[in-house]
Amino acid sequence: MKIIVCIKQVPSTQKVAVDPTTGVLIRSGIDTKMNPYDLYAIDLALQIKKSTKAQLTAITMGPDSAKAVLKEAMALGCDDGVLISDRAFAGADVLATSYTLASVVSSIAKDVALVVCGKQTTDGDTAQVGAEMAAHLKMPFVGLVMGIHDVTTTSIGLTSDQGNQLVDLNVNYPAVISVSEKVGQPDLPSYFRLSQMDETKIKVVTLQDLDDHDPNHYGLSGSPTQVEKIFEPTHDNDHVLIHGSTKEAMDHFVEVMTSNHYFRGKDHG
Ligand SMILES: Cc1cc2nc3c(=O)[nH]c(=O)nc-3n(C[C@H](O)[C@H](O)[C@H](O)COP(=O)(O)OP(=O)(O)OC[C@H]3O[C@@H](n4cnc5c(N)ncnc54)[C@H](O)[C@@H]3O)c2cc1C
Repeated sequence: MKIIVCIKQVPSTQKVAVDPTTGVLIRSGIDTKMNPYDLYAIDLALQIKKSTKAQLTAITMGPDSAKAVLKEAMALGCDDGVLISDRAFAGADVLATSYTLASVVSSIAKDVALVVCGKQTTDGDTAQVGAEMAAHLKMPFVGLVMGIHDVTTTSIGLTSDQGNQLVDLNVNYPAVISVSEKVGQPDLPSYFRLSQMDETKIKVVTLQDLDDHDPNHYGLSGSPTQVEKIFEPTHDNDHVLIHGSTKEAMDHFVEVMTSNHYFRGKDHG
């Protein structure tokens, strides 16, 4: 039985510049870390591995530096890692990202039982990749998993946090799940274990390794959403204190709303 856990390397700071032309993050020269939500995904995947003796592979799409998060995943107990890296994959939106990850799963791990994702990332933050991977792979998807029970090699019991209610379901493999932080406190890799990890258990996958290697389906070319403009919102006039009687306050309010270019939108006059 094979389990794939999807992990992403994200900036470890909020101060990240965006390329004004392409609208993608300028990742070079900034500190990075494993997406914190993916630590919960690894933790849950390790629990399932323990009961099923499954082989657990961590996969990440990113530049060469993303090998660091694969090493962390292996230090935590994953058996091996796959770095999905090719210029053709750069600039992917959610659709292209999820398609690439799904394509890797179906190309190199055809008999996978379970794909485990984090709930969301701290950079892109869309929380859509897991569900979209399931759609590409034509597998059922269960989101926000916060607990497991009745784990076997053919099916798994899942408790999903639906906000105002918890749902218990039993799902046959293969399936895709995303994991909530409510699953519990994950382990962190020790420096000692990390220092013992080498890169020989990391396989690098490029476009040519995929069953569908049409470059138009990946990266910027395969992304239907393109960033038109990224800009910092201005906050010069966002607090206006209005005093007086109701009529005076309303008159003042209308005056502020009609005269202030911030409220009308600076770019649109
Ligand atoms: C400035 C900026 C502009 C953007 N503009 C757009 C846009 O216009 N349209 C658009 O669709 N997207 C846009 N994105 C989103 C960007 O493309 C995403 O980073 C990417 O698609 C992955 O989605 P996510 O980070 O939101 O993942 P989420 O859906 O939040 O992540 C859920 C889980 O999926 C897995 N996962 C996600 N990414 C990876 C990965 N690379 N490798 C392995 N596992 C992964 C992890 O398990 C993660 O916990 C933008 C991002 C930025 C920073």
